[in-house]
Parts: sequence; C-alpha cells; structure tokens
Amino acid sequence: MTRRPLVAGNWKMHGLRASLAEIEAMGVDYDAALRGRAELVVCPPATLVALARDIAVRAGLGLGAQDCHAEASGAHTGDISAEMLRDAGAAYVIVGHSERRADHGETNADVEAKAAAALRAGLAPIICVGETRAEREAGEALAVVAAQIEGSLPSDAPAQIVVAYEPVWAIGTGLTPTPQDVADMHAFARARIEARLGGGKGAHIRILYGGSVKPANARELLSVPNVDGALVGGASLGARDFMGVAAAY
Ligand code: PEP
Repeated sequence: MTRRPLVAGNWKMHGLRASLAEIEAMGVDYDAALRGRAELVVCPPATLVALARDIAVRAGLGLGAQDCHAEASGAHTGDISAEMLRDAGAAYVIVGHSERRADHGETNADVEAKAAAALRAGLAPIICVGETRAEREAGEALAVVAAQIEGSLPSDAPAQIVVAYEPVWAIGTGLTPTPQDVADMHAFARARIEARLGGGKGAHIRILYGGSVKPANARELLSVPNVDGALVGGASLGARDFMGVAAAY
C-alpha cells in the first residue's frame, strides 16, 4: 500500500505577516524531486491563511489551518468555520490538537464534529490523538488512543482524512518515544482506524507522528513502519528546519 508521505507544519500561535517569507523560502528547497516523494503543508495562524494562499501556491506547498468550528456559520463570536478556511485557501485543518483539548476542554465528540464539518466544507481534517505522560506511565496509552480514535473520527470518514499520533509528553519537550514505541502505536492505531471506519480505509489513511520532530531525528522517526509523515510544531516555523525535516524523504 503506497501512501504519499505528508509533512505538515503547525505554527500554533506564532507568526506575523513577516513570517510569510518563510513559506516562500520553503519553496526554494521544495524541488520537483522532493515534491514527487512527499507532500508539504503549512498551517499558519488563521490571520495568515488568506495572505499565505498565493505564496503557498507559488512555493508548491499545501495550506492548512489549526482549528475550525463545528458549524458552517452562526452566532459564535471569535470562531472560524471550515467553510471560511476553505474560502481563504486552506485545504487542510488540524482538529483535536492536544493543546486545544487541554486549553479549551475539547472532547472527542467535539473533535468528531469539527472533523465532520471540515469534510463537509471540502477540507481534509488532520485529527490529533495521543496520550499524556501520566496516561503512558499508568500503562493506558493504547486504551487512550483507541478511545480517541473511536470517539474523534467520523464513522463515515473517507480515506482523505489524516490522523496524527502526538504523545502529549513529546510535544515541545525535546522528548520522543523510541522508534519501537512509535512502530507499536502506529500499527495499533491503523488497526483501530480500520475497526472504526472499515472498508479497507485503514490501509489508505496517513498516520503522522508528531512530537519534537527535528531535522536531527526526522530520518529515524519517519522511517518507522506505518509512519506516513510528521506533524511538526517548533521546527516548522523556519524554512531551514522545516525543509531539514522534509529532507528525510
Ligand atoms: C505540535 O504542536 O503538533 C508539535 C508536534 O509540536 P513540536 O514539534 O514543537 O513538538
């Protein structure tokens, strides 16, 4: 089964208009050969999505956002719908990132509703799952990820969705699981995705690894079986590091 690798950059709450130059710079190293091997997507803050559209197109990069509301429009001050993101030029949207689950109390049901909204709007959701340090230490990592997959993926989701396994304790910490731990979790996640969606979709869906991916460890992490790319936070803010991660392909 060939799944086109995807390296997605999550800028989180970083970036002003001047940062758009980094997307332009990413395009310089994103040559035809690398394009043939991997898809690159950058997810800047919502304020930059529309401004990044033409730059990303010129650079050959895809464009994503970091969250969406579950409804298409309505009285939800401050929120942004998937339709608005699509209109602004996004093709992807991250949903259920652990920072949103923690900071905004998002439940699996919320994440499922957001992923469904993304699909209705024509966006591919990147649905994040992953256990906390306490959950891993309690031996609950597999159960937590299974419950998140069961609760956060719309049951009728097509194979265009992307799942990102991001152990919470690895995000922004410089810590990473061992390649064996990543292999075990990704194989487990693929089986749970198939159990949730059926129809052989589990074999087609890309499962990204996220959590302290850097140029120095990208090759090791991205060569693990069932790892179809990376969701990159800190190392996606600058072209040099982001392209250093992508160079693993
Ligand atoms: C993330 O925020 O999704 C992430 C993986 O962050 P970092 O790469 O900085 O650990």
